[in-house]
Amino acid sequence: RAKRDGRNGYCFFTGEMQAQSVRALELENALRRALKRQQLSLHYQPQLCLGSGRVIGAEALLRWQHPQLGAVSPAEFIPIAESSGLILEIGEWVLREAAGQLRRWLDAGLPPLRMAVNLSSVQFRHADLPELVSRIMAEAGLAPEMLELELTEGVALTDPLGAIAVMADLNARGVRLSIDDFGTGYSSLSYLKKFSAYKLKIDRSFVRDLTEDPEDKAIVNAIISLARSLGLQTIAEGVETEGQLALLREQGCDEVQGFLFSRPLPAEGFAAFVCQHVA
Ligand code: C2E
Ligand code: MG
Ligand code: MG
Ligand code: MG
Repeated sequence: RAKRDGRNGYCFFTGEMQAQSVRALELENALRRALKRQQLSLHYQPQLCLGSGRVIGAEALLRWQHPQLGAVSPAEFIPIAESSGLILEIGEWVLREAAGQLRRWLDAGLPPLRMAVNLSSVQFRHADLPELVSRIMAEAGLAPEMLELELTEGVALTDPLGAIAVMADLNARGVRLSIDDFGTGYSSLSYLKKFSAYKLKIDRSFVRDLTEDPEDKAIVNAIISLARSLGLQTIAEGVETEGQLALLREQGCDEVQGFLFSRPLPAEGFAAFVCQHVA
């Protein structure tokens, strides 16, 4: 059986597992070359102030267009970038590209905006991160306050004290921290207190059924009250309907982001969106 089914001792893999790991290996090799071949780009999704309706920021979201494989989703390639260590190089490119883009928008006359960048826990555990972030913002001629780093609660999973120290360092440098996918992780409220967070980002899974599910409504309400009592801002992700928006307004959410306003856009599209909303 072993001889017939598999080579190189991989006979214990099921066919499907094998196909998955072959795909992962293929993607890893392709990802290694993607940066140099300029296949990676950033799209930007508007973040709006719920009260004024103004665009106040952008979330940078990584895109990978491979000539043969087509568009590969970050949900698939980010974990591969993390396990292979490639995320350090890619993450640094993302930070530099996002900062450079914000610089170009400001130079082109766009109103002041904040740039939100997603950070992997692997980057977070890397000793140089705070220094690197400061350097990139300075090189782009941007105040550190214009950068918001989106972290998930998972950054504190393996080394909570180390993570808390890095957060305090970033915070002292003026960089803002937002807890992404809030409510889906495992961190305790006593950690949250020590996170130096500026904002809680309410996970899309609670927003989705907000208008039909009384439990989701209660959870969103609780997150917003918690944030308010801790002096934190709130943003809801994945807002798709007017009904969800109305409830979030009623509950006092500060900011919103989602397909109702705009999908993530290439840089030029984002600039056009901002101009329409200013006029
Ligand atoms: P995330 O940071 O929670 O980003 C939100 C995701 O929800 C994005 O998916 C966005 O396109 C999508 N989204 C936004 N509004 C809506 C909506 O109204 N409805 C629905 N159904 N979806 C919405 P995307 O771009 O595929 O990114 C997936 C995840 O990949 C991100 O989740 C983030 O964890 C990760 N990611 C993306 N870019 C980067 C990056 O530069 N670095 C790192 N470390 N992770 C990244
Ligand atoms: Mg995010
Ligand atoms: Mg999120
Ligand atoms: Mg998410």
